[in-house]
Amino acid sequence: MSDCIFCMIGDHEIPTKAVYEDEQIICFHDLEPQAPVHVLVIPKKHLASLDEAREEDKELLGHIMVKIHEIAADLGLDNGYRVVINTGEDAFQTVKHLHFHILGKRKLTWPPG
Ligand code: AMP
Ligand code: ZN
Repeated sequence: MSDCIFCMIGDHEIPTKAVYEDEQIICFHDLEPQAPVHVLVIPKKHLASLDEAREEDKELLGHIMVKIHEIAADLGLDNGYRVVINTGEDAFQTVKHLHFHILGKRKLTWPPG
C-alpha cells in the first residue's frame, strides 16, 4: 500500500467521486477549492512532480492535456479556465504526486500570487 495520498485516490483505496476517470488518469474535486470550480487531474502513475516527467511519459502527459479541455467543457467552463502545475518549494507544491489544477467560474487574477 502506497503512503502517497493521490496514489491512494488513483487506486481507490480512498473512495472518491471521480469527475472523470480512465485507465491512466483520474479527476476529482479539490478538498479546499480556490474557485467555484476547482478540480485536480492526476496520472495514476506516481510521478512526484513535473521534474520526474521523462520521454516515456510523453503519451501520458499528452493524454492529460487532451482530456483537460474535455473535462473543462463537461464542467461548463465555457468562459475560460486556468491550469496550474505547482512544482517544488517555491511554487508551494504540497502534495508530492503530479497534479494539474483546473480552476474556473471566476475571474482569475494575473500575475498569480
Ligand atoms: P499543490 O499545492 O499544488 O500541491 O496542491 C495540492 C492540492 O491538493 C491542494 O489544493 C489541496 O487542497 C488538494 N488536496 C490535498 N489532499 C486532497 C484530497 N484528499 N482530496 C482532494 N484534494 C486534496
Ligand atoms: Zn503518488
